[in-house]
Amino acid sequence: MRTPVRALAVLLAVALARTPIAAGQDVAAQDVAAQDGAAGAVSVPAPTEKAMRYYRSGCVLWLVNSAWGLVLPALFLFTGLSARVRNWARAIGRWWLPALGAYVVMFLAINFLFDLPLDYYQGFLRQHDYGLSNQSFGTWFGDSVKRLLVGVIVGVVVVPVLYLLITRSPKRWWLYTSFAAVPFILFMAMVTPLWIDPLFNEFGPMKDPALETKILSLAQRAGIDAGRVYEVNKSVDTETVNAYVTGFLGTKRIVLWDTTIAKLGEDELLFVMAHEMGHYALRHVVKGIGFSFVMILAALYVIHRTAGIFIRRFKGRWRFDRLSDVASVPLLIGLANVLSLIGAPVVMGFTRHIEHEADRFALELTRDNRGGARAFVALQVENLGNPRPGPLYKLWRASHPTLGDRIDFCNEYRPWETGEPLIYGDLFVDPR
Ligand SMILES: [Zn+2]
Repeated sequence: MRTPVRALAVLLAVALARTPIAAGQDVAAQDVAAQDGAAGAVSVPAPTEKAMRYYRSGCVLWLVNSAWGLVLPALFLFTGLSARVRNWARAIGRWWLPALGAYVVMFLAINFLFDLPLDYYQGFLRQHDYGLSNQSFGTWFGDSVKRLLVGVIVGVVVVPVLYLLITRSPKRWWLYTSFAAVPFILFMAMVTPLWIDPLFNEFGPMKDPALETKILSLAQRAGIDAGRVYEVNKSVDTETVNAYVTGFLGTKRIVLWDTTIAKLGEDELLFVMAHEMGHYALRHVVKGIGFSFVMILAALYVIHRTAGIFIRRFKGRWRFDRLSDVASVPLLIGLANVLSLIGAPVVMGFTRHIEHEADRFALELTRDNRGGARAFVALQVENLGNPRPGPLYKLWRASHPTLGDRIDFCNEYRPWETGEPLIYGDLFVDPR
C-alpha cells in the first residue's frame, strides 16, 4: 500500500488535515534534559550521536523509498505483470465494473507483498532498534493489513470513477478528476476521525480534568468551541510525542497523543495545544484542500500530456495500448511518484509556511516564549530530531520549519513587548 499512497501522501496529509506539531511519525525516547540558558532564551541542544545516526540512516531510507516508488511500478509494467493481473481480473469480473474492482484488489495485494520487506524494516525493526516503538510484531502486522483493507475500499471506489472519466473524456479527464477529487477529499477528511482512525487506536475525552480545563480555557480565548479535544492512546505503539488537528465540519478536532501528555511539562503542552488551535482557527484545513486541488490539477495535466508518449513507445512490452485500460494503473502511479518528487519543494514550502504561522499564533495566544522553545526541545529529544538538517533536507523533506528555527523563533518573537500589533490578535476572544 505504501507505494500507491506515497505519490500523494504529503498532499493528502495536508488535505486530510493531518497537521501534526512535529514532522515524521518515527521517533524515540531519550533521557536528555532540556538545556536551558540561564535566563530568557532557550538554547538549541546539540543532537545526540544516536539522533544523528537516525537522521543519516533516514536520509538513505528516503532515497531507497523514492527509488522503490519508481522501480516497483516499472516492474509491474515491464514484466507484463499488470497486463496479466488485468486478464485475471477480466476472467473473474466478466463485466467492466467488477473486473476493475478485481484488478484493484489483486494489484494492491501483490503490491503489499512486494512492499512488505522494506515496510517491515523501516516500520518495525528500525523503530525498535532506536527504542521508538512499543508495538509487537502482531500489532504492527495487523495495522499493516488494516491499512491495506482501507486502501482496497478506497481504491475500489476511486479507480472506477477515474477510468470512467478517462474512457468518456480522453481529452478532459484530468480536469474532471481534479474537480471530483475535492468532494472526495472533503468526505475523507470528515470520516477519517470517525471510521478510520479508531481502527488503529482508542480515542476518548481527556483523562486529566484539571489539564482539560486549562486547555479548554485556552481554546475559548482562541475562539474555538469546547469539547473538541481528544486524547489517543499512542503509548501502546510508540515512545514519540505528537498532536494534530483532523476532521472537517462537524468532525473537526484536536487530538493529543497520551505520550505527549506524559512527557511534556504543562506549559510546553499548552503551547503545543495553542499551535494546534492555530491550525484550527486559521482554517489551515480548507487552505490545504485548496492547495491540494491546484497541485492535483497540475500533476494530472502533466500525466495526461506524457502518459500517451510512454504507452506508444512501450505498448508491445506492457501489453496495453491506451490509458483507459486498467493495466495502466502502475503507469499513473509511477508518473505521480516522479511528479511528487519534483513538486516536493513546493509542497514542503507550503506546509512549512502554515506550520510557521501556527507557531506564531501559539506565541501570540500564550505569550509563553520559554514554554514554546522548551516544547520544541522536548520534541527534538523525544523524537530523535536533528535541529539543523542540511539544505537539501530542508528543501525536499522538511514539512515543518527545522526545530532549530522554531526554537530561535520562540526566543525572538515578542511583538507585545515593543507595542507592535499582533498579527492574529483580533482572532482572540479576550485580547490582552
Ligand atoms: Zn502544526
